[in-house]
Amino acid sequence: MAVRSQPEPRPASSRPSTRAGEAAVRELLALLGENPEREGLAATPRRVVESLGQLTSGYHADLDDIVAGAVFEEAYDEMVLVREIAFYSLCEHHLLPFYGQAHVAYVPDGRVLGLSKLPRIVDAFARRLQVQERLTTEIATAIDSRLHPKGVAVVLEADHLCMMMRGVEKSGCRTITSSMTGVFRRDPRTRAEFLGLIGHRS
Ligand SMILES: [Zn+2]
Repeated sequence: MAVRSQPEPRPASSRPSTRAGEAAVRELLALLGENPEREGLAATPRRVVESLGQLTSGYHADLDDIVAGAVFEEAYDEMVLVREIAFYSLCEHHLLPFYGQAHVAYVPDGRVLGLSKLPRIVDAFARRLQVQERLTTEIATAIDSRLHPKGVAVVLEADHLCMMMRGVEKSGCRTITSSMTGVFRRDPRTRAEFLGLIGHRS
């Protein structure tokens, strides 16, 4: 699977101000044929800027910070799986949501990660402008590079509103992506165990 690296977000100083953001949303509303001054829309630019800020807060997430203090020496060497982690992301092509479930597993090599950290890692990458393929790989790489386990497996199942709402594709089809490293890639039994546990036939 191809990995494209994501450019670093611009530092705050070079980012357009909130005021410029609100002006841009007002302009967009006018472009759509709306009257940005009408009562129902008066506060919309501020809300859109705020909500987009929240939905892309992953750009400011510090992965080292997230895992800090949560890596523990442990002899456990069976698969650790957290499945059905709900995630919400924005497709970078249409700025429309795609959302679904992430299944994240790893086989420890002397170290385990606090379980609550896996959903936080998912969120750190989901709350950005994304494509599902890159999101999948970034989650796997983040765990691999910080925990150095025997292997990592990430499967994402998602619905894309840009496909469902725009009528270019049938709705009701889910997109499934996976990224596997180490023992999940090498050992068919480990991969089959993982896929079985998340309800996929290998
Ligand atoms: Zn899209």
